[in-house]
This record gives sequence, C-alpha cells and structure tokens, in this order.
Amino acid sequence: MMRLSNYFLPVLKENPKEAQIASHRLMLRAGMIQQSSAGIYSWLPLGLKVLEKIESIVREEQNNSGAIEIKMPTIQPAELWQESGRYDDYGLEMLRIQDRHERDMLYGPTNEEQVTDICRSHLRSYKSLPLNLYHIQWKFRDEVRPRFGVMRGREFLMKDAYSFDISQDAARIAYNKMFVAYLKTFSRMGLTAIPMEADTGPIGGDMSHEFIILADTGESGVYFHKDWLDTNMVTDISYDQDLQPVVDSFTSLYAKTDEKHDPANCDVDSADLLNRRGIEVGHIFYFGTKYSEPMGAVVNTAEGAPQPLHMGSYGIGVSRLVGGIIEASHDERGIIWPASVSPFDVGIINLKSGHEKTDPVCEQIYQGLCDAGLDPLLDDSSDSSGAKLASMDLIGLPWQVIVGPRNVDNGVVEVKNRHTGEAQEMSADKAITMLAEQAGAR
Ligand code: ATP
Ligand code: MG
Repeated sequence: MMRLSNYFLPVLKENPKEAQIASHRLMLRAGMIQQSSAGIYSWLPLGLKVLEKIESIVREEQNNSGAIEIKMPTIQPAELWQESGRYDDYGLEMLRIQDRHERDMLYGPTNEEQVTDICRSHLRSYKSLPLNLYHIQWKFRDEVRPRFGVMRGREFLMKDAYSFDISQDAARIAYNKMFVAYLKTFSRMGLTAIPMEADTGPIGGDMSHEFIILADTGESGVYFHKDWLDTNMVTDISYDQDLQPVVDSFTSLYAKTDEKHDPANCDVDSADLLNRRGIEVGHIFYFGTKYSEPMGAVVNTAEGAPQPLHMGSYGIGVSRLVGGIIEASHDERGIIWPASVSPFDVGIINLKSGHEKTDPVCEQIYQGLCDAGLDPLLDDSSDSSGAKLASMDLIGLPWQVIVGPRNVDNGVVEVKNRHTGEAQEMSADKAITMLAEQAGAR
C-alpha cells in the first residue's frame, strides 16, 4: 500500500530516444529502471516490486518441484573455471577481476563450476541423490551488444538450478520435473512460453529446451505447430510419477528454434506451421558428466563403484521476464500487468486531491482495500486529472478506481479494468467488495 505523495515514481512524459522497443520505452517512462551504464540498470521502486513478484513465483515453483534454494556468490575464483577448462573458453563475455593479492577472480556469468564444487565436497553416495540446488542471483556477461533495456543486459538476474543424479535415466526425471515447473511458472505470469528443442552441443540427445514467448521484437526465430496457440496445455498438465508421458506429449507437438528447424525433417503440414519471433525466457539443459568428471564430483553407486554425477542446469531470465511480460502485454497507453506480477493490485485516482468530498472517499477505499489484504496505490498528488489518468494507464495496474467530485455527489465511483477498458459505476463499498473478490479469485 502506498500514497503517491510519499512514493518515488519518476514517470517520464516524453518517449526516451534510446529505447527501440515497447518494453524498454515503457519501463523507462513508468519509472521502473534507470540506466547506470550500458546494459546495467538501477531498479527503482515500481520496477523492483515487479522483479520481486516474478522472483517469488519462480521461487515457489522451484520449491514445489523439489529444488532447494541456496545462494552462491557473484564473485568466483578463477581456479574453479580453470579446473573445468572454461576459464579460457568463455572469452570476452566474462568479466575478469584481480583482487589486491593479484588473485584472479571473475564475476559469475553462470554457476556450474561453483555448484559442482559444493557437491563434490559433500556428496559421497547415491543415497544423497537426487539433488537439485538453485539460486536467484545477479550475473554479469559482457554482451557484445547490450540492448532493449533489461532484455539483453550485462548485469541481470537469473534463477539457475543444477540437478545431480546417479545416471542418465535419473537425470531425465529431474529434467522432466523442471520442464513442468517451467510451464507452470510462465503460465502463472500470464505467458504462453513454448518449449523449443534447442541445441545440445556435443552431448547430443533431446534434453535441451529453450522456453520462448512470442514477440515480434524477439531475438530468436522459431517454427512451431499452430496448436501451441490454441490449446492451454499448461492448465491440463497431468503426469505420472516419472512425468514421462506428459513431456512426450508436449514435445510431440513441433516447436524448434531456427537453428534446429530443418524443413526436410519437419512433418508438420505447411499450413499448420508458424514461423515467428520470440524471446528466450528460460533454458534447460542436460549435460551429463561434463563438469563432474574434470572436477572430480563422484559418488558411489549401490554396487560401490565410483560414478561421476550426471548434471543438468536450468536457467530463467528473471529480469528479462519483466521486459518480456511487457512485450506480451501492453497497448498504446502503457503497460497492462497480469495481476500476478502487478506492482500494486489497484490504483485509486483522486481526480481532485484536497477536495472535501473526494478525499474522504479515497481514504475509505484505500483503507478498505488495505483491510481486505490488497495492495493499493493512491494517487493523492496535485497533478492534473488528465496527467493522473494517463500515468495510471501507463503504469498498468489491473484495476483503477477513479474518484471525482461529480460522481461522489451521486454516491458512486468509477471502477475500470485496465485490460478490457470496461468501466462501471458503483458505490465505494461495492467497489471494495468487488475488488477484494477479484483478488480472492486469483
Ligand atoms: P541468449 O541466447 O539470449 O544469450 P543464453 O543461451 O546465453 O541466452 P542461458 O545461459 O541459458 O542464456 O541463461 C539462462 C537465461 O538467462 C536465458 O534463457 C535468458 O532468459 C537469461 N539471459 C541470458 N542472457 C541474458 C542477458 N544478457 N540479459 C538478460 N537475461 C539474460
Ligand atoms: Mg547468451
């Protein structure tokens, strides 16, 4: 809950010149972020609220899948990466640092080595498996071309999970669990994220998927069966203990990134095949013993034989999702937040702050909504009514309650749905009950 007069919401009236796509423009205009240097941003209050809501959904679904949260550092020692052989391979995307003792360090672009180091210190037996550890932590990649705001940043927030198993069969179960967790995660954010078969590199097999949401401004070209758009498959999830059948049915519907798409080997009727652009919001990957072998992360099997751990890693671009959701949900007036990630539940607009009739009605609604467990934002500023209405549309809260002197004289306020644009007049009491019910239904 917040009164705008006590808040920090630096909205911009003009379109910032540097922003090429809607989400970047709207995030700057709605006072969500401020650029610090190329691809590096401060998160202002409104942006931080959304980022944290997305983070919470990601965390809940990771926990539901059985993954366990940890927090690894942002700064890592070079030695770990020398052990895996990636210190030299990673190239210029890695930010390399020296401490005062001239020890080589780096700002982590990802954490396979770090988590393998943790597990090799503590895991001895197959009995400790399966294990999936995740964290939500800032990463740094010195991208050649940081652009589109938080979409391709240099510093960005990622959820990365790492699974440890005794065999490839066991790793497949871990992979499938994450696969389903991802579908649930994105669906809770109001997104249709299509799992696309992605390159597995030298490991081969079918165990790598990129989760891609459709947007014309996306950087990935994708081919997929049109049924992905018609069916809400995520809500129909049903699966047995191993999750195998479900995932088979998901992957049986064609969806590939343009690197993997081969017209000669695509049996989808051309009328059913769509070619669009999309944004990669998640990536899951099985890579076997690629890190456990060189780094000596080995456990004993039931037979007592040493076995390097079979690993997978599972990323979600938490900060990229803020931009991705806006790309998927906005109009010419601004952002339209899905309720689950909206920074506030309801915006109350006092069209005439300081007026003897509108002030008490706004207070009544504000208190009523707070008491009902909602998180309202009250615009009690001295801006013009036109500016207030425009700002509220811009920041995209799902519901608005508009309180003006004339309506108050008639005993009503206006309740507007930002998504449909529908507005209804009702008493203040009715507005509180109705909005509380809406929130309860979520
Ligand atoms: P991309 O192909 O977009 O560079 P990637 O394959 O390098 O992505 P991963 O290493 O799989 O990405 O990272 C996991 C997730 O982190 C990605 O799916 C994406 O959502 C997010 N991500 C990766 N790079 C960035 C970035 N520069 N800015 C914001 N998010 C990013
Ligand atoms: Mg990349």
